[in-house]
Amino acid sequence: MFPVHRIYCVGRNYADHALEMGGDPVREPPFFFQKNPDSLVPDGGVFPYPGRSVDVQYEIELVVALGEGGSSIPLDRALDRVFGYAVGIDMTRRDLQAEAKRQGRPWEVGKAFERAAPCSALVPASVTGHPRRGAIRLAVGGEVRQQGDLAQMIWSVAETIAELSTLFTLAPGDLIFTGTPKGVGPVRRGDVLDGSIEGVGTLSISVA
Ligand code: MN
Repeated sequence: MFPVHRIYCVGRNYADHALEMGGDPVREPPFFFQKNPDSLVPDGGVFPYPGRSVDVQYEIELVVALGEGGSSIPLDRALDRVFGYAVGIDMTRRDLQAEAKRQGRPWEVGKAFERAAPCSALVPASVTGHPRRGAIRLAVGGEVRQQGDLAQMIWSVAETIAELSTLFTLAPGDLIFTGTPKGVGPVRRGDVLDGSIEGVGTLSISVA
Protein backbone atom coordinates (compact mmCIF):
# COMPACT_ATOMS: atom_id res chain seq x y z
CA MET A 1 0.00 0.00 0.00
CA PHE A 2 1.10 3.57 -0.77
CA PRO A 3 1.01 5.85 2.30
CA VAL A 4 -1.01 8.81 1.02
CA HIS A 5 -0.11 12.20 2.45
CA ARG A 6 -2.27 14.85 0.75
CA ILE A 7 -4.60 14.88 -2.25
CA TYR A 8 -4.30 17.88 -4.53
CA CYS A 9 -6.56 18.45 -7.53
CA VAL A 10 -6.19 20.67 -10.60
CA GLY A 11 -9.27 22.59 -11.73
CA ARG A 12 -10.01 23.28 -15.39
CA ASN A 13 -6.90 21.69 -16.86
CA TYR A 14 -8.57 20.71 -20.14
CA ALA A 15 -9.82 23.57 -22.32
CA ASP A 16 -12.95 21.74 -23.50
CA HIS A 17 -14.00 21.06 -19.89
CA ALA A 18 -13.28 24.68 -18.84
CA LEU A 19 -15.61 25.78 -21.65
CA GLU A 20 -18.39 23.36 -20.65
CA MET A 21 -18.18 24.76 -17.09
CA GLY A 22 -18.60 28.31 -18.39
CA GLY A 23 -14.93 29.27 -18.00
CA ASP A 24 -12.46 30.83 -20.40
CA PRO A 25 -9.30 28.69 -20.64
CA VAL A 26 -7.42 31.52 -22.37
CA ARG A 27 -7.98 34.08 -19.62
CA GLU A 28 -8.15 31.81 -16.57
CA PRO A 29 -5.24 29.42 -15.94
CA PRO A 30 -5.83 26.11 -14.09
CA PHE A 31 -5.90 26.26 -10.28
CA PHE A 32 -5.78 23.94 -7.25
CA PHE A 33 -7.99 22.59 -4.50
CA GLN A 34 -7.67 19.62 -2.12
CA LYS A 35 -9.49 16.49 -1.06
CA ASN A 36 -8.93 14.52 2.14
CA PRO A 37 -6.64 11.45 2.06
CA ASP A 38 -9.26 9.36 3.88
CA SER A 39 -11.71 9.91 0.98
CA LEU A 40 -9.98 7.39 -1.29
CA VAL A 41 -12.04 4.52 -2.70
CA PRO A 42 -10.07 1.59 -4.19
CA ASP A 43 -10.78 -0.12 -7.50
CA GLY A 44 -13.91 -2.26 -7.16
CA GLY A 45 -15.15 -0.11 -4.29
CA VAL A 46 -18.47 1.51 -3.55
CA PHE A 47 -19.32 5.20 -3.67
CA PRO A 48 -22.30 5.97 -1.41
CA TYR A 49 -24.48 8.72 -2.88
CA PRO A 50 -24.17 11.58 -0.35
CA GLY A 51 -27.13 13.21 1.32
CA ARG A 52 -28.02 16.85 0.67
CA SER A 53 -27.06 16.57 -3.00
CA VAL A 54 -29.18 15.84 -6.07
CA ASP A 55 -26.44 16.42 -8.65
CA VAL A 56 -23.29 14.37 -7.98
CA GLN A 57 -20.98 14.09 -10.99
CA TYR A 58 -17.99 12.05 -12.22
CA GLU A 59 -14.70 13.53 -13.50
CA ILE A 60 -12.19 11.00 -14.87
CA GLU A 61 -8.59 12.11 -14.18
CA LEU A 62 -4.97 10.99 -14.43
CA VAL A 63 -3.55 10.72 -10.90
CA VAL A 64 0.13 11.41 -10.19
CA ALA A 65 1.71 9.89 -7.07
CA LEU A 66 4.82 11.58 -5.69
CA GLY A 67 7.72 9.57 -4.29
CA GLU A 68 9.65 12.70 -3.35
CA GLY A 69 8.59 16.21 -2.46
CA GLY A 70 10.02 19.68 -2.28
CA SER A 71 9.10 23.31 -2.77
CA SER A 72 9.76 25.52 -5.80
CA ILE A 73 10.74 22.43 -7.78
CA PRO A 74 12.37 23.35 -11.11
CA LEU A 75 10.33 22.32 -14.14
CA ASP A 76 13.12 20.17 -15.56
CA ARG A 77 13.39 18.20 -12.28
CA ALA A 78 9.66 17.83 -11.60
CA LEU A 79 9.17 14.39 -13.14
CA ASP A 80 12.01 13.03 -10.98
CA ARG A 81 9.60 13.35 -8.02
CA VAL A 82 6.96 11.06 -9.54
CA PHE A 83 6.57 7.56 -8.09
CA GLY A 84 3.82 6.48 -10.43
CA TYR A 85 0.41 7.00 -11.98
CA ALA A 86 -3.18 5.87 -11.48
CA VAL A 87 -6.72 6.37 -12.76
CA GLY A 88 -8.92 8.50 -10.51
CA ILE A 89 -12.41 9.99 -10.42
CA ASP A 90 -12.87 13.44 -8.89
CA MET A 91 -16.39 12.90 -7.52
CA THR A 92 -18.12 16.27 -7.28
CA ARG A 93 -21.34 17.48 -5.67
CA ARG A 94 -22.02 19.84 -8.57
CA ASP A 95 -25.05 21.41 -6.91
CA LEU A 96 -23.14 22.35 -3.75
CA GLN A 97 -20.11 23.48 -5.78
CA ALA A 98 -22.32 25.70 -7.96
CA GLU A 99 -23.88 27.23 -4.85
CA ALA A 100 -20.40 27.87 -3.40
CA LYS A 101 -19.34 29.56 -6.65
CA ARG A 102 -22.43 31.78 -6.57
CA GLN A 103 -21.78 32.77 -2.97
CA GLY A 104 -18.01 33.17 -3.40
CA ARG A 105 -17.44 30.46 -0.79
CA PRO A 106 -14.89 27.61 -0.58
CA TRP A 107 -15.50 24.36 -2.49
CA GLU A 108 -14.96 21.85 0.36
CA VAL A 109 -18.55 20.63 0.62
CA GLY A 110 -18.62 20.06 -3.14
CA LYS A 111 -15.23 18.40 -3.49
CA ALA A 112 -13.81 17.15 -0.18
CA PHE A 113 -16.69 15.00 1.04
CA GLU A 114 -16.70 11.33 2.08
CA ARG A 115 -15.36 8.82 -0.49
CA ALA A 116 -14.96 11.57 -3.08
CA ALA A 117 -11.64 10.25 -4.42
CA PRO A 118 -11.90 6.84 -6.12
CA CYS A 119 -8.42 5.80 -7.30
CA SER A 120 -7.02 2.71 -9.02
CA ALA A 121 -3.89 0.82 -8.10
CA LEU A 122 -0.71 2.80 -8.72
CA VAL A 123 1.60 1.78 -11.53
CA PRO A 124 5.24 2.80 -11.04
CA ALA A 125 6.66 5.25 -13.55
CA SER A 126 9.39 2.69 -14.17
CA VAL A 127 6.63 0.65 -15.87
CA THR A 128 4.46 3.36 -17.46
CA GLY A 129 7.07 6.00 -18.23
CA HIS A 130 5.65 9.53 -17.96
CA PRO A 131 2.53 9.50 -20.15
CA ARG A 132 2.13 12.67 -22.23
CA ARG A 133 -0.63 11.34 -24.46
CA GLY A 134 -3.11 8.50 -24.46
CA ALA A 135 -6.86 8.01 -24.37
CA ILE A 136 -8.67 8.90 -21.12
CA ARG A 137 -12.29 7.82 -20.90
CA LEU A 138 -15.15 7.08 -18.56
CA ALA A 139 -18.22 4.95 -19.19
CA VAL A 140 -21.40 4.78 -17.12
CA GLY A 141 -23.24 1.47 -17.41
CA GLY A 142 -21.09 0.63 -20.43
CA GLU A 143 -21.92 3.86 -22.27
CA VAL A 144 -18.95 6.16 -22.92
CA ARG A 145 -19.57 9.63 -21.46
CA GLN A 146 -16.08 11.16 -21.34
CA GLN A 147 -13.44 10.66 -23.98
CA GLY A 148 -10.29 12.73 -24.30
CA ASP A 149 -6.53 12.53 -24.53
CA LEU A 150 -3.84 13.33 -21.96
CA ALA A 151 -2.20 15.51 -24.63
CA GLN A 152 -5.10 17.98 -24.14
CA MET A 153 -3.96 18.93 -20.64
CA ILE A 154 -3.24 22.68 -20.37
CA TRP A 155 -0.61 22.15 -17.65
CA SER A 156 1.50 19.03 -18.22
CA VAL A 157 2.31 16.81 -15.23
CA ALA A 158 5.73 18.48 -14.91
CA GLU A 159 4.22 21.98 -15.09
CA THR A 160 1.57 21.02 -12.52
CA ILE A 161 4.18 19.75 -10.03
CA ALA A 162 6.41 22.80 -10.54
CA GLU A 163 3.49 25.23 -10.14
CA LEU A 164 1.93 23.41 -7.16
CA SER A 165 5.31 23.33 -5.38
CA THR A 166 5.42 27.14 -5.40
CA LEU A 167 2.24 27.14 -3.26
CA PHE A 168 2.75 24.09 -1.00
CA THR A 169 5.69 22.02 0.20
CA LEU A 170 5.09 18.75 -1.60
CA ALA A 171 5.87 15.49 0.17
CA PRO A 172 6.29 11.79 -0.55
CA GLY A 173 2.82 10.27 -0.65
CA ASP A 174 1.08 13.25 -2.21
CA LEU A 175 -1.43 12.47 -4.96
CA ILE A 176 -2.35 14.97 -7.66
CA PHE A 177 -5.61 14.59 -9.62
CA THR A 178 -4.72 16.40 -12.84
CA GLY A 179 -8.10 17.53 -14.20
CA THR A 180 -10.80 16.12 -16.44
CA PRO A 181 -11.75 16.36 -20.13
CA LYS A 182 -15.24 17.37 -21.22
CA GLY A 183 -18.33 15.25 -20.80
CA VAL A 184 -18.83 15.41 -17.02
CA GLY A 185 -22.30 14.43 -15.89
CA PRO A 186 -24.46 13.03 -13.10
CA VAL A 187 -24.35 9.62 -11.46
CA ARG A 188 -27.34 7.71 -10.05
CA ARG A 189 -27.63 5.03 -7.41
CA GLY A 190 -26.87 1.68 -9.01
CA ASP A 191 -24.56 3.10 -11.69
CA VAL A 192 -21.27 1.36 -12.45
CA LEU A 193 -18.49 3.76 -13.46
CA ASP A 194 -15.65 2.35 -15.57
CA GLY A 195 -12.65 4.58 -16.16
CA SER A 196 -9.53 3.89 -18.17
CA ILE A 197 -6.34 5.63 -19.20
CA GLU A 198 -4.28 4.15 -22.00
CA GLY A 199 -0.99 2.81 -20.65
CA VAL A 200 -1.95 3.43 -17.00
CA GLY A 201 -4.88 1.23 -16.03
CA THR A 202 -8.54 0.96 -15.25
CA LEU A 203 -10.86 1.84 -12.36
CA SER A 204 -14.37 0.52 -11.69
CA ILE A 205 -16.65 1.65 -8.89
CA SER A 206 -20.36 1.32 -8.19
CA VAL A 207 -22.72 3.96 -6.81
CA ALA A 208 -24.84 2.83 -3.86
MN1 MN B 1 -11.65 17.60 -11.37
